[in-house]
Amino acid sequence: MLERAAKLYRPLVELRRRLHRSPELGGEETHTSALITEYLQALGLEVRRPHGTAVLGVLRGRVSGPAVLLRAELDALPIQEVPGRSYGSQVPGCMHACGHDGHMAMLVGTAMLLAEERDGLAGEVWFLFQPAEEKLPVGGARALVEAGLLARGPVELALGLHLWPDLPVGTVGLRPGPVMAAGDIFRVTFTGDGGHAAQPHAASDTVASAGHAVIALQGLARRQVNAVSPVVVSVGMVQAGSSPNVLPAEAALAGTTRYLDSELGAVLKTQVQSIARAVAGIHGCRAEVDYQPGYPAIVNHPEATERVAQAVLKSMGAGALRQDLAASMLSDDFSYLGREVPSGYFWLGAAGAGPRPTLHSPHFDFDEQALVCGTAVLSQVCLAKLVRKEVHGDG
Ligand SMILES: [Zn+2]
Ligand SMILES: [Zn+2]
Repeated sequence: MLERAAKLYRPLVELRRRLHRSPELGGEETHTSALITEYLQALGLEVRRPHGTAVLGVLRGRVSGPAVLLRAELDALPIQEVPGRSYGSQVPGCMHACGHDGHMAMLVGTAMLLAEERDGLAGEVWFLFQPAEEKLPVGGARALVEAGLLARGPVELALGLHLWPDLPVGTVGLRPGPVMAAGDIFRVTFTGDGGHAAQPHAASDTVASAGHAVIALQGLARRQVNAVSPVVVSVGMVQAGSSPNVLPAEAALAGTTRYLDSELGAVLKTQVQSIARAVAGIHGCRAEVDYQPGYPAIVNHPEATERVAQAVLKSMGAGALRQDLAASMLSDDFSYLGREVPSGYFWLGAAGAGPRPTLHSPHFDFDEQALVCGTAVLSQVCLAKLVRKEVHGDG
């Protein structure tokens, strides 16, 4: 399978670079959707538009049977790419810095390979190109599930992947159980009377409230949650003040909580609220907390995990499979699909010989051989699940 996928290297690189040059932000992926639709229709797939800018290509085998859903994301990020690449983004302030251009190319590559196998398939492959994955806490996958996407067909298995800069190209990271964390968003607004910076005793200090809250919230992950359960609390935004000698009447901060155990969502919400209010109280301020639940954790189904493992072993060899990795505290709204049907999500080695820029970096790039590997693994899982078993012998 890897050899067959390798023959697609050039067209897949060409498609990936074409997508990379014209990124679009979540919910606005109209040109990307149109381009993907062209490719899928050229392969003879039935193309549906289930919701918003989403595209669903359906490849039907000769005989009816279950469906396997493969998912890629359509959206890019509001990041200015570093200049100098021949295939660099031509849209100022917008970049495929999370590798979604590669994910799309791999799904198209899989459609190319499986379209040749159509007559031998008993069932369907659904190629889902999903909008707005980067739009935590809402995201695009949830809307698709709520619009009844999965109710319209016999999906028995869903697969997702992410290009992974921590792994060398030619490897796959896979683990059963929790893989990617749940991610919520919070915003805290401190309000007080404000006052002269030289007379803090006569003012209520919203800046001090926000500062103390940042430290206290980080401590929450270390002291209020069982140490064996991974939790991250990060404040990524602080806004306050406009003058060095004025204590402002308002200060705000915003951040995210990440956790693997779904029951921690309610605990963290309560803790963020009580810390914000307690800290505000010390400084004579009030705290208003807006805590929005975001993506659930991705939890790999045992059978789906085994299917991916077998596909990696068969298409890429034993040395390619890495099962020793810890779960990631990043989030991905593939979890909304994975909650509905048995699902497998894996990390695809993306690092070449050079530097390894992280996801969401303006330097992000990956070794394009990964496109071949991802195409091979996805195709192999689908074939193993859907190929018609020929009946031999005379009975
Ligand atoms: Zn991302
Ligand atoms: Zn991503």
